[in-house]
Amino acid sequence: MIIEPRIRGFICTTAHPVGCATNVQRQIDHVVVKGPIESPRKRVLVLGCSTGYGLASRIVTTFGSGADTVGVSFEKEPGETKTASAGWYNNRAFEKRARAAGRIAVTVEGDAFSDAAKAQTIAAIRDNLGEVDLVVYSLASPVRTDPKTGTTYRSAIKPMGEAVRSKTLDTGTGAVSEVEIQPATADEAEATVKVMGGEDWELWVDALREAKVLAPDFMTLNYTYLGSELTWPIYHKGTLGRAKADLDRAAAAMRERYGSESAFVVALKAVVTQASSAIPVVPLYGTLLLKVMEEMGLGEGCIEQIDRLFRVKLQPPLELDKESRVHVDDWELSEAVQAEMGRRWPLLSSETLAQHADLDRYRREFLRLFGFGLGGVDYSADIDPREPA
Ligand code: NAD
Repeated sequence: MIIEPRIRGFICTTAHPVGCATNVQRQIDHVVVKGPIESPRKRVLVLGCSTGYGLASRIVTTFGSGADTVGVSFEKEPGETKTASAGWYNNRAFEKRARAAGRIAVTVEGDAFSDAAKAQTIAAIRDNLGEVDLVVYSLASPVRTDPKTGTTYRSAIKPMGEAVRSKTLDTGTGAVSEVEIQPATADEAEATVKVMGGEDWELWVDALREAKVLAPDFMTLNYTYLGSELTWPIYHKGTLGRAKADLDRAAAAMRERYGSESAFVVALKAVVTQASSAIPVVPLYGTLLLKVMEEMGLGEGCIEQIDRLFRVKLQPPLELDKESRVHVDDWELSEAVQAEMGRRWPLLSSETLAQHADLDRYRREFLRLFGFGLGGVDYSADIDPREPA
């Protein structure tokens, strides 16, 4: 079949196998060209390994520091006439290239929140790596079923306390408009913490430890977004921010249990991913950020951020903020970038968007997540969607 993008709201329901593989290869090339990364951590578990920051983490540890990996992600398999999820093609493309480079790469596809996926992953670690010395937690999901109670929680991305009015962008039409987002109820806030907070992170680390597949000097990382006052009302001070604050709690609890160097939250910059495109206000901020940072020569996507995390920020001695977080969002939150963001934000409207921000680039990056719009790919070719590249 000829595979074309089919966009519904903020997701694309198709993915291109060759385009996804090209995207994976482009990220591998980025790391390889920069040369090896010094790291003692050679056996890595990546939770949420198939797209965005998780995929970049798997690529950087494998092709930068020569690590063997087990990855976990949630995917849709392909059929004769339907494409798989982008992550499924990314996983296959990554495994093929990692194995060709002599590395072990095993992927468990299932619901990472479930006890079954944890058991399957522990078996995969035992069989293939023996134990892991780094666990990267990069899951982004709108829903989680608590394995102990069977209750399913859905996150609600809303402000806390009061309604928030903000500009927002329809990335399909390019229209900038005002939205009023009503505050979360106490139940919605609690559910968001259940889904995106630190509980499952701790369950994973405790289960790995219990099963004796964690090296004694292991480290675990979880990714957060702090952002600036332009997005604080909807993000940092909203339900998502509350869930992210729970990561700081979980990291501190694990440092108590497992040692002062064991668990850290890493603050990353806003990038275009499947998860971030679903958050109100963030795509408008993102289109502006793309242009401002590019103009200042500071543009970074997932692979550049994670490469800098491992190549620079995780090298000892670790530089931590007062919450013990590692920061790779330093360029986004620099005074120069935020001053320019703050200057342009009030000027944004449907009419001025093209002048101040870069919606075309945002759309290109969004399509690329699904393997579309990559150079060197023949999109007119008749392709079997069951064949990864
Ligand atoms: P993403 O949507 O690109 O990736 C999410 C990953 O989680 C995918 O591999 C997906 O398969 C996996 N996943 C989702 N539900 C799952 C489940 N039930 N079981 C197994 N796997 C599951 O997201 P992302 O933007 O890379 O986000 C990863 C982390 O980075 C999140 O914690 C996010 O808050 C954080 N972060 C993102 C940004 C950003 O701008 N995108 C900025 C800072 C921090």
